[in-house]
Amino acid sequence: MPIDATLPYDDQNVFAKILRGEIPSKKVYEDDWAFAFHDINPQAPVHILVIPKGAWVSWDDFSERASAEEIAGFVRAVGQVARDNGLVVPGFRLLANIGPHGHQEVPHLHVHLFGGRPLGAMLAR
Ligand code: AMP
Repeated sequence: MPIDATLPYDDQNVFAKILRGEIPSKKVYEDDWAFAFHDINPQAPVHILVIPKGAWVSWDDFSERASAEEIAGFVRAVGQVARDNGLVVPGFRLLANIGPHGHQEVPHLHVHLFGGRPLGAMLAR
């Protein structure tokens, strides 16, 4: 079920548990600001999720209230993960779902990196 991205942060969400090491993940990257891992239900040959380490529900509260250092660290980590996984030259898609219309299911900010094949048009028509 898509969540309301204006709700307060729930530290029992699945990505909070992954960050705390309470449930396993296939990690591909970690630094002071971000953690990246393979999506459990990949929608493309490469499907990686990158999450900030801070307790942010969505792009909305992150962009409004995170520190400049935290935002820069997260954005740089996303770029690093794309480069590390060979996505830049063939190209890839970067996506963040926010709230009900965005069909956001996990209430911890995450960006999806999709790649490994031509991805077609951005939205179903
Ligand atoms: P979204 O609709 O943007 O909130 O996407 C949530 C994503 O998290 C989906 O692509 C799920 O397959 C993925 N997901 C949910 N639980 C896990 C998990 N334990 N490990 C890795 N990916 C997960």
